[in-house]
Amino acid sequence: ATALSIKDLSKVYGNDFEALKGVSFDVQQGDFFALLGPNGAGKSTTLGIVSSLINKTSGSVEIFGFDLEKDKAAAKRSLGVVPQEFNFNMFEKVGDILRTQAGYYGIPAGIAKQRSEYYLKKLGLWDKRNDSARMLSGGMKRRLMIARALVHEPKLLILDEPTAGVDIELRRSMWAFLQEINKAGTTIILTTHYLEEAESLCRNIAIIDHGSIIHNTSMKSLLQQM
Ligand code: ADP
Ligand code: ADP
Repeated sequence: ATALSIKDLSKVYGNDFEALKGVSFDVQQGDFFALLGPNGAGKSTTLGIVSSLINKTSGSVEIFGFDLEKDKAAAKRSLGVVPQEFNFNMFEKVGDILRTQAGYYGIPAGIAKQRSEYYLKKLGLWDKRNDSARMLSGGMKRRLMIARALVHEPKLLILDEPTAGVDIELRRSMWAFLQEINKAGTTIILTTHYLEEAESLCRNIAIIDHGSIIHNTSMKSLLQQM
């Protein structure tokens, strides 16, 4: 199955700046995919549109065959998103943040509790469950973003620069965690400007530059070209 299909996506920001100029690519179910490119290339804009955080100007996005516009609820059920900016309520308790999120997806309280516990333990946050989010270190906040994106067990997880500004030790543990959930069946798409990150994790890539896809290939063949 195709997890994500983007067709001829364009985005003109309010100031008339054309950030995406007809971007198309597909990501297959089970893939670990990187959207690569220099700063300002259009990575966040692309993922922002897929995540419904940014409105597209034209083009289409399908998630597991559901059109993001026509079948929004179905499309969004399969999707978990980890944006770059921390956007949880800093005064809410860590455990409550996950249960609140589960509530948005209509997950029964008992299951929400179990899943929260599972992901908080998995991501080394269980001891912090009763602290407000603002008490967490930067690295912990980043892991909380990931835990929250997983609580409804999406088939597709999208992360925007997940390890930006993260120390090497945490970066490695995040990589291992993402590989584990990918092996368990979750399709993963991330943006990064670290080629090294894409190289160690990803099977397929698209490279975007000035709002256009300039390469869309396997990581292996990209490395052979270099
Ligand atoms: P990347 O994630 O690859 O660094 P972005 O998608 O954030 O790139 O940005 C692509 C281009 O769009 C950049 O030139 C950026 O300055 C511009 N841009 C991003 N957001 C806005 C906005 N809200 N208004 C105008 N221009 C924007
Ligand atoms: P800081 O932001 O203060 O650097 P971190 O959140 O980066 O703190 O890391 C705090 C501790 O938690 C580190 O010892 C790190 O190795 C550990 N840690 C990071 N990720 C995980 C994980 N997935 N599971 C368990 N422990 C982790």
